[in-house]
Amino acid sequence: MDVKVTKKKLSLKDRYKLLTRDLGWQTTYQPMDKVYPYVTFEGIKIHDWEKWEDPFRLTVDAYWKYQAEKERKLYAIIDAHAQNNGHLNITDASYLTALKLFLQAISPGEYAASKGFARAGREFGGIGTQVACQMQALDEIRHAQTQIHAISNYNKFYNGFHAFADQRDRIWYNTVPRSFFDDAMSAGPFEFLIAISFSFEYVLTNLLFVPFMSGAAYNGDMSTVTFGFSAQSDEARHMTLGLESIKFILEQDPANVPIVQKWIDKWFARGMRLLSLVATMMDYMLPKRVMSWREAWNIYGVENGSALFTDLARYGIGLPKHWDDVEKSIDHISHQVQMALYQWSFGTSFHSWIPSDEDMAWLSAKYPETFDKYYRPRWENIKKLKAAGTPYANFGLPKLCQVCQLPCLFTEPDDPTSHCQRETEYKGEKYHFCSDGCQHVFENEPEKYVQAWLPMPGLFQEPLKGDIGAWMQWVGLNPGKDTGDYDGSEDQLNFAAWRTQATRNE
Ligand code: FE
Ligand code: ZN
Repeated sequence: MDVKVTKKKLSLKDRYKLLTRDLGWQTTYQPMDKVYPYVTFEGIKIHDWEKWEDPFRLTVDAYWKYQAEKERKLYAIIDAHAQNNGHLNITDASYLTALKLFLQAISPGEYAASKGFARAGREFGGIGTQVACQMQALDEIRHAQTQIHAISNYNKFYNGFHAFADQRDRIWYNTVPRSFFDDAMSAGPFEFLIAISFSFEYVLTNLLFVPFMSGAAYNGDMSTVTFGFSAQSDEARHMTLGLESIKFILEQDPANVPIVQKWIDKWFARGMRLLSLVATMMDYMLPKRVMSWREAWNIYGVENGSALFTDLARYGIGLPKHWDDVEKSIDHISHQVQMALYQWSFGTSFHSWIPSDEDMAWLSAKYPETFDKYYRPRWENIKKLKAAGTPYANFGLPKLCQVCQLPCLFTEPDDPTSHCQRETEYKGEKYHFCSDGCQHVFENEPEKYVQAWLPMPGLFQEPLKGDIGAWMQWVGLNPGKDTGDYDGSEDQLNFAAWRTQATRNE
């Protein structure tokens, strides 16, 4: 009797090969370098694309199955959150400041990353790279969508959530992440990978995603925690892509090493400026805090970062150039940025507030070297001004850094009592910077950064021409509702009233 031989199932690796093999034909109507013109102009030399192993080998059908399962769970929870007034379970409506910042600054960044990976996938010559970029482009657009959906429920009840897309492009503190992603997207494909996959996803993502998602968990925000989990498994793939791609580039040719090092220096400097907003969120915006920015930096920056760069030393890659300056700034930046957000809070689409006595005790304990010495006295003074009926506001416009676009509000690495400002003259024009890091980025590519659109000078250009009221409309701010002190705000009063209704018989 014949035994029926069952066809042996293909291994994942073989299936993946079958899936991608036909994408890799050699073009005949046009030469390959015309089809992929961007692979050479950055100076990176690739000798063998075959060596680039896609670490996931994810096929489209498997990808769809995984993601659909995650979506089903996510939307069930978002639905339950909406139906059960989940918004009343958060610790306090002041927590929403962190969430507003996330929606305005980070979710559009996910969308930008999606566009960037879609483009990079087209520009690379290797199949493995193309497919990995395509998968990540899909992930990132999903992240943007699930975040916007999860957070949209809060928009029904609270101010400041309604115009995040315009605000991402137009409000001063949001042009910090916007310019970060615009810079990456307008770079060549290899720099894009080093900027987003390696520097951002691999080195810095734990300092961004973990604080926001743990912040949500600590403060009772179920819908945000859920999209965090849903994105987490993608994040693991993205980090692997970051590490795979840098190793591939470095192994291909020794001439690639100095180019990559320059990109690491640049994107670390830019990334750390972007993270100053996260530092502020961790130390000031969460009613129930997870850990301090300093503690997060020690774990995810110092410990993980040093291990990584020790590992990369065998390729000739060293720590990012401005690592020491960054280390010196860690105990300062959250206090400096929060004071900026408070004094310009007439122009923010979230509330800020003076830290309470309890908050200040926490900050003293977490920043024993700096808080009481440099920042408590200022907060105490700001508190007095408020009590006297003359709350502190700064109607002057700050000078912005031409690279990171933050106001030049940081201090000298070795002297926290003097402002750090740098200047470069280029083709007869003066440009200003917040730090040596940003100045170096500019000086390496001046023609790129002289084109940067800066929100403060933008206020005096068409169509606004200096009209603050018109600016408010243009950026989608309702003065007094979206802006200003949390104390006495509609968000605070409504939350208190709804909580009372939900928990008492009044
Ligand atoms: Fe993402
Ligand atoms: Zn800067």
